[in-house]
Amino acid sequence: MSKRKKVIVVTGGAGFLGSHLCDRFLEDGLRVLCVDNLITGHMRNIRHLLRDKNFRFIKHDVSKKLHFKGPVDYVLHFASPASPVDYLKYPIPTLKVGSLGAHNTLGLAKLKKARYLMASTSEIYGDPEVHPQKETYWGHVNPVGPRGCYDEAKRFAEAITMAYHRYHKIDTRIVRIFNTYGPRMRINDGRVVPNFIYQALHNKPLTIYGFGKQTRSFCYYSDLIEGIVRLLYAKFHSPVNIGNPDEFTILQFAKLVIKESNSKSTLTYRPLPMDDPKQRKPDITLAGKYLKWIPKIKLQTGLRETIQWFKENLID
Ligand code: NAD
Ligand code: UDP
Repeated sequence: MSKRKKVIVVTGGAGFLGSHLCDRFLEDGLRVLCVDNLITGHMRNIRHLLRDKNFRFIKHDVSKKLHFKGPVDYVLHFASPASPVDYLKYPIPTLKVGSLGAHNTLGLAKLKKARYLMASTSEIYGDPEVHPQKETYWGHVNPVGPRGCYDEAKRFAEAITMAYHRYHKIDTRIVRIFNTYGPRMRINDGRVVPNFIYQALHNKPLTIYGFGKQTRSFCYYSDLIEGIVRLLYAKFHSPVNIGNPDEFTILQFAKLVIKESNSKSTLTYRPLPMDDPKQRKPDITLAGKYLKWIPKIKLQTGLRETIQWFKENLID
């Protein structure tokens, strides 16, 4: 008798990261149930999968209960607006998907006795006073600021995930994702990578918020997906940072985007959004030790591929 394929539910599966996860798990021979309400995702990210008999798309808001017939082996909760522009536009759906959505998907994992992995974020460290950020750092978050809807929803999601692990003995994982970029980001999602690439490709001035002295550390999507897959199959329940520790100021990043796009763009300065973290860089010692994972793709290489993708896909 042939062994049944493992079934994985990916919430937020029509988004940037979720769709790459769907690709990866199908390639690895799993059946994928992609659940998304398309609030910030798009069908174009998964259209190539719709004919695959091992793939199913379910349009559903996971802040409402979800039911599936049959077995489920893994539940990955990736549904949530993720760009500051998106979560400022949808603060209440963001709070709901981080809290009610986490509760509903944990309930599904409990019912099906499935392993659960939630997508957390470097934002749970807030505007960090410890640098680089280790998983043991509790963070510096303004709960009532504009980013609070996202940061606190993710902090709640981590807390309820650990409560289900401790109380219901659910087999859980938490990945703290640091700024990740690559093909399938929305050109207008407002994050710095698509913003700068769009502006550079149109020879428009790149919009630097503040003086551009704030730092970020950018991870290419393929490295991130590999880290998540390794975490899913490792036995490790505490949060794990996954990100690229190569740190750049936003000014340095802008200059690199201009160079790699062969652009004539100049720079223009805009006010720094409230509570914008001044520095961010993951400490990835844990991922190295327990997952044997380190990122391989240099920013210049990933940026070249991303610029090429945006040229082919979204620039008219
Ligand atoms: P994205 O906006 O491209 O994807 C999110 C997906 O979730 C979208 O397809 C959206 O339609 C879906 N969604 C949102 N609310 C939903 C709901 N209530 N029900 C069903 N679907 C819903 O963003 P992304 O960058 O791919 O982020 C995916 C996940 O990774 C998010 O949970 C985000 O917080 C986390 N994350 C991403 C990054 C990053 O740098 N990309 C960093 C940290 C954390
Ligand atoms: N940023 C910028 N210009 C832009 C968009 C973003 O200078 O057009 C800055 C933003 O203020 C932040 C950094 O780039 O300091 C990363 O912003 P992003 O929205 O990508 O994500 P964040 O890391 O803040 O969640």
